[in-house]
Amino acid sequence: MNQGKINSYTTMYGVFGDPIRHSKSPIMLNRAFEAAGLNAAYAAFHILPGTLKDAVAGIRALQFRGVNVTIPHKVEVMSYLDEIDEGARIIGAVNTIVNEGGKLIGYNTDGIGYVRSLKEETGIDLQGRTVLMLGAGGAARGVGYALAKEGVSKLYIANRTKEKAVELAASMSSFCQTIGLGLNEVAGAAGEAALIVNNTSLGMHPNVDEVPMDTSLISSGTVVSDLVYNPLTTRFLREAERQGATIHSGLGMFIYQGAYAFEYWTGQPAPIAAMREVVVQSFTD
Ligand code: NAP
Repeated sequence: MNQGKINSYTTMYGVFGDPIRHSKSPIMLNRAFEAAGLNAAYAAFHILPGTLKDAVAGIRALQFRGVNVTIPHKVEVMSYLDEIDEGARIIGAVNTIVNEGGKLIGYNTDGIGYVRSLKEETGIDLQGRTVLMLGAGGAARGVGYALAKEGVSKLYIANRTKEKAVELAASMSSFCQTIGLGLNEVAGAAGEAALIVNNTSLGMHPNVDEVPMDTSLISSGTVVSDLVYNPLTTRFLREAERQGATIHSGLGMFIYQGAYAFEYWTGQPAPIAAMREVVVQSFTD
């Protein structure tokens, strides 16, 4: 591993979150630096509430080249940066910081990472299609914006707390037709959608038996996608596959959000295969 090669020239990177010890970003990004032959190292930092501003000042002081930001800091971090990319500003969250000679620039690679993986793994053409998104939290904002940028014409957003779905739908109505629903009102939308995406945390380890909707409503030929990647194949995806759907797991999104961050930081193409291999391997360790 490249940690063995850390020396006085090593460029430093990290991820800020709370909790953070479960994060697979360090193994993925260190493998990426190693495969690209870069003298760089990436560590996980447990940033407690109230300390984020100091942590961001530390990026400048210690001259880290880049940092990923995860739950619960993606929104607050925006107040401490020098510049926010347009996509991240519209989404309202930053997951990647690039340090350009002391100027900190915030990006959001979650949504573009999601769409890149979805298109590569399923071949779906999103132009003019109808999509049903389940969930209206932080991830849904990035995914919804990226889907709208791909030319989706109609976006149903269904959420347990319906007001949040209606609010997110309203905030995205300038990009495409959007409709907010309750999570129990998806029957019509499920039949109409070419793509159904689980943006909720339902089904995530250890609650692996939860599903975000009644899967008997899914028609064959639909693409069904889950942001959850632990487990790699959720119960929702297994049931959707039995209904004849094409399924897409959240692992690809995780890999590609990291790949875009790597590319912003280094200017080099990310070694995707090596990154995927080390993360998949970590699930069996
Ligand atoms: P978040 O902002 O906390 O939003 C959570 C969403 O899940 C909300 O829509 C919430 O509905 C819904 N939800 C939670 N518990 C529920 C329950 N018991 N019943 C119904 N709905 C429930 O979280 P997030 O950042 O958007 O993340 C959502 C999921 O995406 C997580 O599983 C996360 O791991 C995953 N994710 C994956 C990647 C990747 O790279 N693959 C990247 C980002 C996120 P309410 O509004 O009603 O609470």
